[in-house]
Parts: sequence; C-alpha cells; structure tokens
Amino acid sequence: VSWVPSYFRVALIGSNGVGKSAISRQFLTSEYVGYDVTTPENEEQETTVSVLLDGEESIMEFTEDPQVTDLENLHVDAFIVAFSITDYSSFVAATSLIQHLRVTMGTDRTILLVANKIDLVRQRKVTAKGARDFAIKYDCDYRETSAVLNHHVDDLLVASLKQIRSKLSPP
Ligand code: GDP
Repeated sequence: VSWVPSYFRVALIGSNGVGKSAISRQFLTSEYVGYDVTTPENEEQETTVSVLLDGEESIMEFTEDPQVTDLENLHVDAFIVAFSITDYSSFVAATSLIQHLRVTMGTDRTILLVANKIDLVRQRKVTAKGARDFAIKYDCDYRETSAVLNHHVDDLLVASLKQIRSKLSPP
C-alpha cells in the first residue's frame, strides 16, 4: 500500500468558447474532490485537486489550452477534447485534434471526447450519434455535459480518472 497519492495530468483542449474553463471550474465542486491543491498566489495556475475514488486518492492537474503545436510533447495522462453541440466547427476542430493525437501518440493515451452545452437543445448542430461514432472509431470515450447546469461533469471527472488508472494497470 502506498500512502503517496498518484499524480495525473489532464489537458483540456478544444476551440475557444466551448466551455473548457466552465468544465474545469465545475470539477472543483465535484463530490469526489476533497481539496484544492493549488496555491492562490499563482495567477497562471492550473486547476489541481485531490480526487477520492474507489477508496484511493489521486491528485489531478487540469491544464487548459496548452500550445497545440506541441501537444505530443505534453506530459499528460489524458486529453479531454471538448466541443460545443451548438458549434459544428468546434466539432470539426475536435475531430482533427483527436486524429492528430492518435497519429502522433498511438492508442495508449486516454482521450475523452466531450460534447458540452447540451442544455442548448434547440441550437444543437452536432448529433450524438455522429460524435459517438467518431469517438468509437478513434478509441475515445464519449460524454455529453452541460457545464452551466453542472450536468454529467462529475461523470466526466470520474471517467477520466478511471480510464487513466485502467491504462496503468490493465485488467
Ligand atoms: P472556453 O473558451 O472553452 O474556456 O469556454 P468558457 O468556459 O469560457 O465558456 C464560454 C462561454 O460558454 C461562457 O459564456 C460560458 O458561460 C458558456 N458555457 C460554457 N459551458 C456551457 C454550457 O454547458 N451551456 C451553456 N449554455 N453555456 C456554456
């Protein structure tokens, strides 16, 4: 038994305005989050929290908007690639990011495709089926969230941690 929690890094990427900061803010309110690790003096800080899941503590650091040009050099355990269901071009951008990640890094890295803003039902431009089919093809988990309503944001946090852990110790 190790008493030192594992430390995992997650990059939140996707077009401007899809809700990446809204999602990472909601992670802080999750019932799985014990405490905020970040020091308030640092203005450029990432969101870093302690997550207790299945009796095991992990420290998770969420980096928003890293430089897309060196994504493959980022030492992250998972990518959360977000788009807005109201913005088809943000879905196209998400698919090309995922294709890029798979070409450069293979399938060993955890990637979650996230459709955000599902509260804006009547402005929907991207079907769940289209997005899910793409995700399956590229070996990604697919989630739909509403960051403003805090719907399924917890599930996203838990899914990303579970997948990171299962890649480390495959069943
Ligand atoms: P980022 O540029 O990807 O970090 O996007 P932000 O988190 O700054 O969000 C951009 C805008 O979309 C803000 O006005 C948010 O309030 C809004 N927004 C984010 N998530 C949602 C959501 O789930 N539903 C709705 N209706 N608006 C959202």
